[in-house]
Amino acid sequence: IYALTGKRVWVAGHTGMVGSAVVRALARENCEVLKVARADLDLRNQADVTRWVSHEKPDAVIVAGATVGGILANDTRPAEFIYDNMMIATNIVDAAHRAGVGKLLYLGSSCIYPRSPPQPIVEDALLTAPFEPTNQWYATAKVAGIMLCRAYRRQYGCDFISAMPTNSYGPNDTYDLRSSHVIPALISKMHTAKSEGREEVEVWGTGKPRREFIFVEDLADALVFLLKHYSGERHVNIGVGSDVSIRELTETIADVVGARCRMRFDTSKADGPPQKLLDSSYLFQLGWKPSVTLTDGLQRTYRSFLQGRIHSSS
Ligand code: GDP
Repeated sequence: IYALTGKRVWVAGHTGMVGSAVVRALARENCEVLKVARADLDLRNQADVTRWVSHEKPDAVIVAGATVGGILANDTRPAEFIYDNMMIATNIVDAAHRAGVGKLLYLGSSCIYPRSPPQPIVEDALLTAPFEPTNQWYATAKVAGIMLCRAYRRQYGCDFISAMPTNSYGPNDTYDLRSSHVIPALISKMHTAKSEGREEVEVWGTGKPRREFIFVEDLADALVFLLKHYSGERHVNIGVGSDVSIRELTETIADVVGARCRMRFDTSKADGPPQKLLDSSYLFQLGWKPSVTLTDGLQRTYRSFLQGRIHSSS
């Protein structure tokens, strides 16, 4: 067990949806959280990252910073996705090693698994087949991050670990319809339909694909749990153990938003893979369990969406 009490923990990427939730989770841990603004430290700059880390000397680091986006962003900005994310991983891992950081947690993403692995997806499915072509740039960089942690553990004995979260959602998500994932997209569309009294909402695809979703507060809790309780080469899947169809998800979101409209499934839009469910049994064996149901998490997400709209319009 790695005790966090009294430790200085740097959350790289503390403004993002996951990073900000990790900061809130660490507030319960009796440790000091280090943050640095994007304007003051460009994580892609090796000299700056090395200087900052050697000066601040954190005891532990959580790498939640990344250049992220949906299919469209990945497709149109491949160079940024691979360069930014490889630099972030390389700079932070190496700087942490040089500064003698005692524990580091690197965050992967479930899209690094092959395009259609057997379900639920076990950790060992990594690199057993080619990536999904649309996110191969991001996936390559994220796999490099995991490999860096393994290599620094083997050669230098660093206690650097990595985790692979399933799709997360919650406060601070992106609601821009061109780059958002399905949950923020549907919350936003249904909210608009309700406010404008529209009778129909367009949902992409057939509604049949199944996806697993974790509320970001649960994810942050699992990350802090792993930081304290896990040490090893293998990355650890973080999921909730069950999935829902997009149709079921749509109905639940309509209930939460209070939108009484018909769903029109636009089958000219892509479904993506038929199922994406992680096998999180290793994490559950370690002793962690999710505590927020999908309905609960969606209600909390919708409340924060409404608050965000009040703030941005005032
Ligand atoms: P994925 O898990 O990488 O496929 O990411 P997404 O969250 O973008 O999409 C999940 C599923 O939701 C896919 O089958 C989409 O076709 C479906 N979907 C339905 N409506 C929407 C929408 O408005 N936006 C997005 N992003 N996906 C949608």
